[in-house]
Amino acid sequence: MPVIEVEHLHKRYGDKVAVDDVSFAVERGEIFGILGPNGAGKTTTVECLEGLRTPDGGELSVLGLDPRRDRAELRQRVGVQLQEGRLQDKLRVGELLDLYAAFYRTPADPGELLATLGLTEHRNTAYKKLSGGRQQRLSIALALVGSPELALLDELTTGLDPQARRDTWDLIEAVRAQGVTILLVTHFMEEAERLCDRIAVIDAGRVVAVDSPAGLVARVTDEQVVRFRPSAPLDPGVFEALPEVRSVERQGERLVVRGGGNVLHAVTSLLARLGVIAGDLRVEQAGLDDAFVALTGHRPE
Ligand code: ATP
Repeated sequence: MPVIEVEHLHKRYGDKVAVDDVSFAVERGEIFGILGPNGAGKTTTVECLEGLRTPDGGELSVLGLDPRRDRAELRQRVGVQLQEGRLQDKLRVGELLDLYAAFYRTPADPGELLATLGLTEHRNTAYKKLSGGRQQRLSIALALVGSPELALLDELTTGLDPQARRDTWDLIEAVRAQGVTILLVTHFMEEAERLCDRIAVIDAGRVVAVDSPAGLVARVTDEQVVRFRPSAPLDPGVFEALPEVRSVERQGERLVVRGGGNVLHAVTSLLARLGVIAGDLRVEQAGLDDAFVALTGHRPE
């Protein structure tokens, strides 16, 4: 049974349709991403899963339970990353973590979590005195302190510097390795590509695609561009006979070969047969940002 099932979720705020028709399922142990432009309905979808909002239509199930009816039970088993401003400003880091740990039947060790998130030396700092990045890390610690089966993380690394972001990704992978299922809302392509097993791309309240990051990219294009400087003069025409190759172009000393499938292997095998070495070899292929643009018509932020 999937850990999360969303079927035809629909949610309005007055006349404004925030989520039109969203369906997806998250399997146990997955890191599942929800990716989409601003205002696509990502946060509203997650808030419905958290039981904070009542859907106007559709069916939701979280760990086989109903997010609103079974909220008390789910609160024990699902970790939620709180949005900015929902914490008591004056409480200190250690106090907040101990307080939250006390809500759960089987809490994690707060000291260990602080160490993992690099917050040990800020144990006695009041929440409002923390930098934005540390507030963010504390919100992740609070989402994990109940040893949840499922963590719902909205804008996991927003406001973090690149190093803190990478550390957080490592942490999330370690949490998943312990068997926790993770639903992640993000608008960072690199984050989605690096962390997510599968991604639902949402635009204007609808799911436009659900697939692995590589699968999303492959839907849009399989084109790869291979550039290199041959160690000996080469007739570009030799590559045109390869079925994987679509075009070959000379750019100064370099050759630029475009193709699909296993074009890199085809090109390097032919070079090896010819006894030519490829200097400065570079391979470019489409990334998740290209797929995002093709699927939603929006540029990533
Ligand atoms: P972002 O990436 O900007 O956080 P999102 O994909 O999470 O966007 P939502 O926050 O779910 O999108 O918002 C979806 C739509 O609903 C947006 O047009 C937003 O302006 C609107 N909306 C969200 N919350 C409310 C609210 N409480 N009242 C009225 N409209 C709302």
